[in-house]
Amino acid sequence: MGTIVAVDIGGTHLRAALYEPENPQPISHQRIQTHTEEPGVYERMESLIESIWPKDGNVLAIGVASPGPLDPHTGYILKTPNIKEWQNFPLGPNLSGHFQVPAFVDNDANLAALGEWKFGAGRGHHHLLYLTISTGVGGGVIADDHLLQGYHGLATELGHTILDPEGPLCSCGFAGHLEAFSSGPAIVKFVIGELASGTSSSLKNGGDITARVVADAANHGDALAISAYQRAGTYLGIAVANFLLSFDPSIVVFGGGVSQVGPLLFDSFRASLKKRVFHPRYLENLKIEMAALGDDAGLLGALALAQISI
Ligand SMILES: [Zn+2]
Repeated sequence: MGTIVAVDIGGTHLRAALYEPENPQPISHQRIQTHTEEPGVYERMESLIESIWPKDGNVLAIGVASPGPLDPHTGYILKTPNIKEWQNFPLGPNLSGHFQVPAFVDNDANLAALGEWKFGAGRGHHHLLYLTISTGVGGGVIADDHLLQGYHGLATELGHTILDPEGPLCSCGFAGHLEAFSSGPAIVKFVIGELASGTSSSLKNGGDITARVVADAANHGDALAISAYQRAGTYLGIAVANFLLSFDPSIVVFGGGVSQVGPLLFDSFRASLKKRVFHPRYLENLKIEMAALGDDAGLLGALALAQISI
C-alpha cells in the first residue's frame, strides 16, 4: 500500500508528515521554522519533504495546506501576505515536477474543515461549517460530503463576509468584514479605541494589550473587556446566521485561539444567532462544537485532500 505526504505551511512552522491513507497517526513527522520573511521557503519545504520520504519511494500523492488566496484547481498560490516571494507561485506544479507524484494544494481553513470532517469533530456529518477565529477569521464548508472550492477555487472566504460596509477596516483593506469585528486583533483594536475615548477599565492604553489579556480582564469582571468579547460574539452570530441560510450545515466547528475563551464569546454568539437566524429550523439538531484536531488540522486536512483527489 502506498503512503501520502502531508505538508502544513504555518506562519511559524513548516510541517511535513507521512501517512497511510486512512490513518491519522503519522508514520513519521518533521517540522522546521518557516522563516517566512527570508527567501527560500519553497526550497526548505522540498528538503523537509525529502527528510520524511519513505525509502521504498511508494508515495501516492502530496497534499499541502497553504496560506491563500490560491487556486486549488491549478496549485498556484496567487499571493500570500506572509510569504512575499510567492506571487502567482506554482507550488503544486513545482512539487509534482520535483517528486514525480501528484500534488494537491488548498488553503489552511478549507483543509482544517476537511480534516475536522474526516478525522475530527465533524466525523459522520455530511454538511459542516468550519470557522477559525484567531489573528484572522477563516472558513471552510463541507456540502454533501464534498469540500466546497468554487469555480475559481475561492469559495468560503468567510472571514471577509461584509457585515457593515461602514464598519471598521479589515486586514484586507475593505471595511466591515467579519474578521474586522471578531478576530483577536479586532477585539484589541476595539478596546484601544474605547480606552482612547475615555471608557474606564482595568486595561490601560500603552500596555501590551492582546486578545488573551482582554479575556483575562473580562474574567475578572472588567466591563469594557466583557463588552469587547460580547461585540465580537454578536457579530459572529450575525455572520453565522448568514452562513446557515447559505450552507445549512448540521454542525458548526470552531477552531483558533480566540474560540478557546468559551462563554465569554459564545454566550453572545448564541443569543445573536438565535435572534437573527432566518428560520428556527436551521437550528434544529444543529451541533456547535470546538475543533478536535488542534495544530494537526492542517496536516490531516492535507492528508484528506490528497486522499480524495487521487
Ligand atoms: Zn477582509
